[in-house]
Amino acid sequence: MTTPDHERTPAAATRAARVALRLALMAAVTLAATATLRAAPPPRQQPAPRAAAARPKAPAIRQARLNGRSYLLMADVARFYGLAASRKGKAFVYSSPYSRLELTPDARTATVSGTDVILAFAPMLHQQSLYLSQADFTAFIDPILRPSTLPRRTVRRIVIDAGHGGKDPGCKGSGTIEKDINLAIALKLATTLQQRGYTVAMTRMSDLYLTLAQRVALAQRFRPDLFISLHCNAAGAAVSGIEVYAATPKGTPASDSKAISAKACAATPHDRTNAFVAYHTQRQLVSTLKLPDRASRRKRYTVIADLNAPAILVEMGFLTNATDRATLRTPARQSLVASAIANAVDLYRKAVAPKAAR
Ligand SMILES: [Zn+2]
Repeated sequence: MTTPDHERTPAAATRAARVALRLALMAAVTLAATATLRAAPPPRQQPAPRAAAARPKAPAIRQARLNGRSYLLMADVARFYGLAASRKGKAFVYSSPYSRLELTPDARTATVSGTDVILAFAPMLHQQSLYLSQADFTAFIDPILRPSTLPRRTVRRIVIDAGHGGKDPGCKGSGTIEKDINLAIALKLATTLQQRGYTVAMTRMSDLYLTLAQRVALAQRFRPDLFISLHCNAAGAAVSGIEVYAATPKGTPASDSKAISAKACAATPHDRTNAFVAYHTQRQLVSTLKLPDRASRRKRYTVIADLNAPAILVEMGFLTNATDRATLRTPARQSLVASAIANAVDLYRKAVAPKAAR
């Protein structure tokens, strides 16, 4: 079905949001350059995110060049969001009644309202003040704190990709095979999303082998508003928990690496949307399943990086861990996994709904 909202290209919308944000930052930096000695206003209560976006003028955000890249002074970023600053051990905490951001100098794990995110670059102490990289602010933190700045889109069409299949079993743990778990949960997620009014397509509905390129091609043809690839993890028996991935943005490293992804990929126009969806899927899964939070992460997995659509890859737990395996094997728990992911899809749909539809 063709709808007017599909005619507005997401790439253009994302570009517009980026330009708007860049303009806001530029305005902020200009303000900083001409700043008077006026004292910083007291921390304000953070308005609801939509009201925050409508705030008439951008407060000053001072920048510094550290390690060869642009960093933003967190004290100014906090003021921009209306967050009050405090300390918790080594961590710098920025909070309001609506959100709480915890950053630790030299550590890539940040916590946003209780859910972990792996940053591209560790925040840095400079002249006794904390700085966050502009890349992290733009691509990871701002989309979560201000979803009103994400490109508008009617979220209706979802592609579910059950990882592996056929001759490719994926990982294994005590006789449980990843391709089977992925498919069982994918089918439950498809049903749940259809019941909630979404149009769902699946890359496979049986024990079928597909190459990664075939999955991308199938998904691209469907023009999804979101692509969700389902996987299970494997590691040592003690390792447990949830990881939700989005494609690594250009100019940043994957979460398990320091090597910068220099080039754009098909997913690049959706970086900010992907950050929001990955974060909320991580959050919903961790809170629903009560499994360890291994943070929302970036990596250019082929199925999410080569697709020009918002996309995430969900590692639903470790088949090599007894607790995770029990969660993933039981039909009732599989339904919980599916409903947690569907709840994140609902949050995404609401957050980016065109204004007239809200
Ligand atoms: Zn897998």
